[in-house]
Amino acid sequence: MPELPEVEVVRRGLERWVAHRVVAEAEVLHPRAVRRHLAGADDFTHRLKGHRIGTPSRRGKYLWLPLEDTDQSILAHLGMSGQLLVQPHAAPEEKHLRIRVRFADEVDTELRFVDQRTFGGLSLHDNTPDGLPDVIAHIARDPLDPLFDDEAFHQALRRKRSTIKRALLDQSLISGVGNIYADEALWRARIHYERPTSGFTRPRTAELLGHVRDVMNAALAVGGTSFDSLYVNVNGESGYFDRSLDAYGREGLPCRRCGTPMHRRPWMNRSSYFCPKCQRVPRVSS
Ligand SMILES: [Zn+2]
Repeated sequence: MPELPEVEVVRRGLERWVAHRVVAEAEVLHPRAVRRHLAGADDFTHRLKGHRIGTPSRRGKYLWLPLEDTDQSILAHLGMSGQLLVQPHAAPEEKHLRIRVRFADEVDTELRFVDQRTFGGLSLHDNTPDGLPDVIAHIARDPLDPLFDDEAFHQALRRKRSTIKRALLDQSLISGVGNIYADEALWRARIHYERPTSGFTRPRTAELLGHVRDVMNAALAVGGTSFDSLYVNVNGESGYFDRSLDAYGREGLPCRRCGTPMHRRPWMNRSSYFCPKCQRVPRVSS
Protein backbone atom coordinates (compact mmCIF):
# COMPACT_ATOMS: atom_id res chain seq x y z
CA MET A 1 0.00 0.00 0.00
CA PRO A 2 1.63 3.27 -0.99
CA GLU A 3 2.02 5.85 1.77
CA LEU A 4 2.40 9.60 1.52
CA PRO A 5 6.02 9.67 0.26
CA GLU A 6 5.27 7.19 -2.52
CA VAL A 7 2.19 9.14 -3.57
CA GLU A 8 4.14 12.41 -3.50
CA VAL A 9 6.79 10.84 -5.75
CA VAL A 10 4.02 9.91 -8.20
CA ARG A 11 2.53 13.42 -7.93
CA ARG A 12 5.88 15.02 -8.77
CA GLY A 13 6.26 12.72 -11.74
CA LEU A 14 2.80 13.66 -13.00
CA GLU A 15 3.52 17.34 -12.47
CA ARG A 16 6.56 17.00 -14.66
CA TRP A 17 5.13 14.76 -17.40
CA VAL A 18 1.36 15.28 -17.53
CA ALA A 19 0.41 18.71 -16.11
CA HIS A 20 -0.88 21.29 -18.61
CA ARG A 21 -1.43 18.74 -21.37
CA VAL A 22 -4.77 18.52 -23.15
CA VAL A 23 -6.52 15.15 -23.20
CA ALA A 24 -7.09 13.91 -26.76
CA GLU A 25 -8.70 10.66 -25.77
CA ALA A 26 -9.13 8.39 -22.78
CA GLU A 27 -9.71 4.69 -23.14
CA VAL A 28 -11.05 2.40 -20.40
CA LEU A 29 -9.87 -1.17 -20.91
CA HIS A 30 -11.47 -2.62 -17.78
CA PRO A 31 -14.74 -1.24 -16.36
CA ARG A 32 -13.73 -2.13 -12.80
CA ALA A 33 -11.04 0.56 -12.90
CA VAL A 34 -13.72 3.28 -13.21
CA ARG A 35 -16.33 1.70 -10.92
CA ARG A 36 -16.10 4.68 -8.56
CA HIS A 37 -17.15 6.88 -11.49
CA LEU A 38 -20.82 6.03 -11.08
CA ALA A 39 -21.90 7.41 -14.46
CA GLY A 40 -19.76 4.77 -16.16
CA ALA A 41 -16.82 4.43 -18.52
CA ASP A 42 -18.34 6.28 -21.49
CA ASP A 43 -19.19 9.27 -19.31
CA PHE A 44 -15.67 9.23 -17.83
CA THR A 45 -13.93 9.29 -21.21
CA HIS A 46 -16.37 11.85 -22.62
CA ARG A 47 -15.76 14.26 -19.74
CA LEU A 48 -11.97 14.08 -20.02
CA LYS A 49 -11.79 14.69 -23.75
CA GLY A 50 -10.52 18.12 -24.76
CA HIS A 51 -9.71 19.29 -21.23
CA ARG A 52 -6.36 20.47 -19.99
CA ILE A 53 -4.90 18.77 -16.90
CA GLY A 54 -4.05 21.23 -14.12
CA THR A 55 -1.33 20.90 -11.49
CA PRO A 56 -1.57 17.49 -9.80
CA SER A 57 -2.40 17.80 -6.09
CA ARG A 58 -2.20 15.57 -3.06
CA ARG A 59 -3.56 15.40 0.45
CA GLY A 60 -2.24 12.51 2.52
CA LYS A 61 -2.34 9.46 0.26
CA TYR A 62 -4.97 10.98 -2.02
CA LEU A 63 -3.88 12.23 -5.41
CA TRP A 64 -5.92 14.13 -7.96
CA LEU A 65 -5.59 15.85 -11.32
CA PRO A 66 -7.74 18.97 -11.70
CA LEU A 67 -9.46 19.36 -15.07
CA GLU A 68 -9.07 22.98 -16.09
CA ASP A 69 -12.21 24.90 -17.11
CA THR A 70 -14.38 22.51 -15.10
CA ASP A 71 -15.15 22.20 -11.40
CA GLN A 72 -14.02 18.59 -11.44
CA SER A 73 -10.91 16.55 -10.73
CA ILE A 74 -9.74 13.06 -11.59
CA LEU A 75 -9.14 11.26 -8.31
CA ALA A 76 -6.61 8.43 -8.45
CA HIS A 77 -7.11 5.47 -6.12
CA LEU A 78 -3.86 3.52 -6.17
CA GLY A 79 -5.22 0.79 -3.90
CA MET A 80 -2.80 -2.05 -3.26
CA SER A 81 -1.21 -2.33 -6.67
CA GLY A 82 -2.25 0.66 -8.80
CA GLN A 83 0.42 2.44 -10.81
CA LEU A 84 0.31 5.59 -12.89
CA LEU A 85 2.90 5.20 -15.63
CA VAL A 86 4.01 7.69 -18.24
CA GLN A 87 5.04 5.64 -21.26
CA PRO A 88 6.01 6.24 -24.89
CA HIS A 89 3.12 5.48 -27.26
CA ALA A 90 5.02 2.53 -28.71
CA ALA A 91 5.76 0.89 -25.34
CA PRO A 92 4.14 -2.55 -25.19
CA GLU A 93 0.86 -2.68 -23.27
CA GLU A 94 1.28 -3.74 -19.67
CA LYS A 95 -0.49 -6.99 -18.83
CA HIS A 96 -2.76 -5.19 -16.37
CA LEU A 97 -3.30 -1.94 -18.29
CA ARG A 98 -6.73 -0.61 -17.25
CA ILE A 99 -6.93 2.99 -18.50
CA ARG A 100 -4.97 4.88 -21.14
CA VAL A 101 -4.97 8.66 -21.64
CA ARG A 102 -3.54 10.14 -24.85
CA PHE A 103 -2.74 13.82 -25.16
CA ALA A 104 -3.26 16.30 -27.98
CA ASP A 105 0.38 17.34 -28.43
CA GLU A 106 3.59 16.21 -30.07
CA VAL A 107 5.12 14.76 -26.88
CA ASP A 108 5.65 11.04 -27.35
CA THR A 109 4.17 9.93 -24.02
CA GLU A 110 0.80 8.84 -22.69
CA LEU A 111 -0.56 8.23 -19.20
CA ARG A 112 -1.40 4.66 -18.23
CA PHE A 113 -3.20 3.33 -15.18
CA VAL A 114 -2.01 -0.20 -14.52
CA ASP A 115 -3.43 -2.30 -11.70
CA GLN A 116 -2.92 -6.00 -11.19
CA ARG A 117 -5.50 -6.48 -8.45
CA THR A 118 -7.92 -3.77 -9.70
CA PHE A 119 -8.67 -2.46 -6.21
CA GLY A 120 -7.69 1.00 -7.44
CA GLY A 121 -9.03 3.14 -10.24
CA LEU A 122 -9.76 6.63 -11.52
CA SER A 123 -12.96 8.63 -11.02
CA LEU A 124 -14.19 12.18 -11.64
CA HIS A 125 -15.58 14.20 -8.77
CA ASP A 126 -16.88 17.72 -8.18
CA ASN A 127 -14.47 20.01 -6.35
CA THR A 128 -15.17 21.67 -3.00
CA PRO A 129 -14.59 25.46 -2.83
CA ASP A 130 -11.06 24.59 -1.59
CA GLY A 131 -10.42 22.67 -4.81
CA LEU A 132 -10.55 19.21 -3.21
CA PRO A 133 -12.56 16.38 -4.77
CA ASP A 134 -15.72 16.36 -2.63
CA VAL A 135 -15.34 12.70 -1.61
CA ILE A 136 -12.14 13.48 0.32
CA ALA A 137 -13.29 16.73 1.95
CA HIS A 138 -13.14 15.06 5.39
CA ILE A 139 -9.45 14.10 5.07
CA ALA A 140 -7.20 16.11 7.40
CA ARG A 141 -4.14 17.95 6.15
CA ASP A 142 -0.95 15.93 6.16
CA PRO A 143 2.17 16.78 8.20
CA LEU A 144 4.09 17.96 5.14
CA ASP A 145 1.35 20.49 4.31
CA PRO A 146 2.53 24.01 5.29
CA LEU A 147 -0.99 24.66 6.65
CA PHE A 148 -0.97 21.64 8.99
CA ASP A 149 -1.81 22.96 12.47
CA ASP A 150 0.54 21.37 15.06
CA GLU A 151 -1.26 22.93 18.02
CA ALA A 152 -4.70 21.77 16.85
CA PHE A 153 -3.28 18.28 16.37
CA HIS A 154 -1.88 18.32 19.91
CA GLN A 155 -5.22 19.44 21.36
CA ALA A 156 -7.02 16.72 19.39
CA LEU A 157 -4.61 14.11 20.78
CA ARG A 158 -5.27 15.28 24.33
CA ARG A 159 -9.05 15.09 23.83
CA LYS A 160 -9.04 11.66 22.20
CA ARG A 161 -9.33 8.62 24.40
CA SER A 162 -7.05 6.78 22.04
CA THR A 163 -3.58 5.34 21.72
CA ILE A 164 -0.88 7.00 19.71
CA LYS A 165 -0.54 4.71 16.71
CA ARG A 166 -4.31 4.58 16.30
CA ALA A 167 -4.34 8.41 16.33
CA LEU A 168 -1.49 8.64 13.80
CA LEU A 169 -3.50 6.47 11.41
CA ASP A 170 -6.73 8.44 11.92
CA GLN A 171 -7.14 10.28 8.60
CA SER A 172 -9.50 12.82 10.17
CA LEU A 173 -6.73 13.95 12.58
CA ILE A 174 -3.65 13.71 10.38
CA SER A 175 -3.49 12.19 6.92
CA GLY A 176 -0.85 10.29 5.04
CA VAL A 177 0.72 8.37 7.93
CA GLY A 178 0.36 4.64 7.34
CA ASN A 179 1.55 1.60 9.22
CA ILE A 180 5.18 1.75 8.07
CA TYR A 181 5.88 5.41 8.78
CA ALA A 182 3.95 5.28 12.08
CA ASP A 183 6.24 2.47 13.29
CA GLU A 184 9.33 4.32 12.03
CA ALA A 185 8.39 7.65 13.67
CA LEU A 186 7.43 5.96 16.96
CA TRP A 187 10.75 4.09 17.04
CA ARG A 188 12.65 7.33 16.41
CA ALA A 189 10.64 9.07 19.17
CA ARG A 190 11.05 6.05 21.54
CA ILE A 191 7.30 5.88 22.06
CA HIS A 192 5.35 2.61 22.40
CA TYR A 193 2.47 2.37 19.95
CA GLU A 194 -0.11 1.72 22.69
CA ARG A 195 0.75 4.84 24.69
CA PRO A 196 -2.46 6.75 25.55
CA THR A 197 -2.69 10.08 23.73
CA SER A 198 -4.36 11.83 26.69
CA GLY A 199 -1.00 12.02 28.49
CA PHE A 200 0.91 13.63 25.63
CA THR A 201 2.66 16.85 26.56
CA ARG A 202 3.16 19.61 24.00
CA PRO A 203 6.94 18.91 23.68
CA ARG A 204 6.29 15.19 23.21
CA THR A 205 3.74 15.88 20.44
CA ALA A 206 6.16 18.32 18.81
CA GLU A 207 9.00 15.79 18.95
CA LEU A 208 6.83 13.04 17.46
CA LEU A 209 5.60 15.30 14.63
CA GLY A 210 9.22 16.20 13.94
CA HIS A 211 10.08 12.51 13.56
CA VAL A 212 7.03 11.87 11.35
CA ARG A 213 8.19 14.67 9.05
CA ASP A 214 11.83 13.53 9.10
CA VAL A 215 11.00 9.96 8.18
CA MET A 216 8.67 11.06 5.39
CA ASN A 217 11.19 13.52 4.00
CA ALA A 218 13.91 10.87 4.14
CA ALA A 219 11.64 8.48 2.21
CA LEU A 220 10.81 11.20 -0.31
CA ALA A 221 14.50 11.87 -0.86
CA VAL A 222 15.03 8.30 -2.09
CA GLY A 223 11.76 7.99 -3.98
CA GLY A 224 9.51 6.28 -1.45
CA THR A 225 9.48 2.82 0.05
CA SER A 226 9.33 -0.24 -2.11
CA PHE A 227 8.49 -3.13 0.20
CA ASP A 228 6.13 -4.45 -2.43
CA SER A 229 7.49 -5.07 -5.90
CA LEU A 230 4.16 -3.90 -7.30
CA TYR A 231 4.83 -0.34 -6.26
CA VAL A 232 6.72 1.72 -8.81
CA ASN A 233 6.71 5.44 -9.38
CA VAL A 234 5.38 7.28 -12.37
CA ASN A 235 8.32 6.32 -14.54
CA GLY A 236 8.34 2.71 -13.47
CA GLU A 237 11.29 2.96 -11.09
CA SER A 238 11.03 1.42 -7.65
CA GLY A 239 11.81 3.46 -4.57
CA TYR A 240 14.30 1.96 -2.18
CA PHE A 241 13.70 3.49 1.23
CA ASP A 242 13.07 -0.04 2.56
CA ARG A 243 16.83 -0.39 2.91
CA SER A 244 16.77 2.40 5.50
CA LEU A 245 13.83 1.24 7.63
CA ASP A 246 14.70 1.10 11.33
CA ALA A 247 11.59 -0.63 12.71
CA TYR A 248 9.17 -1.93 10.09
CA GLY A 249 9.88 -5.50 9.00
CA ARG A 250 12.81 -5.93 11.43
CA GLU A 251 11.39 -8.57 13.82
CA GLY A 252 14.23 -10.38 15.62
CA LEU A 253 16.90 -8.07 14.23
CA PRO A 254 18.89 -5.92 16.66
CA CYS A 255 17.52 -2.45 17.40
CA ARG A 256 19.80 -0.02 15.57
CA ARG A 257 20.01 2.08 18.76
CA CYS A 258 20.44 -0.42 21.61
CA GLY A 259 20.93 -3.85 20.01
CA THR A 260 17.86 -5.47 21.66
CA PRO A 261 16.01 -7.80 19.25
CA MET A 262 13.02 -5.98 17.73
CA HIS A 263 9.52 -7.30 18.41
CA ARG A 264 6.48 -7.63 16.20
CA ARG A 265 2.95 -7.72 17.59
CA PRO A 266 -0.37 -8.15 15.74
CA TRP A 267 -2.15 -4.81 15.70
CA MET A 268 -5.54 -4.05 14.11
CA ASN A 269 -5.14 -6.72 11.39
CA ARG A 270 -1.61 -5.44 10.77
CA SER A 271 1.66 -5.59 12.67
CA SER A 272 3.52 -3.22 14.93
CA TYR A 273 7.30 -3.38 15.07
CA PHE A 274 9.07 -1.87 18.06
CA CYS A 275 12.08 -2.13 20.36
CA PRO A 276 10.95 -3.48 23.75
CA LYS A 277 13.75 -1.58 25.48
CA CYS A 278 13.61 1.82 23.74
CA GLN A 279 9.81 1.82 23.48
CA ARG A 280 8.53 0.69 26.87
CA VAL A 281 5.03 -0.75 27.13
CA PRO A 282 2.93 1.85 28.97
CA ARG A 283 1.95 0.77 32.49
CA VAL A 284 -1.60 2.04 32.13
CA SER A 285 -3.15 0.82 28.91
CA SER A 286 -6.33 2.40 27.66
ZN1 LIG B 1 16.28 -0.20 21.23
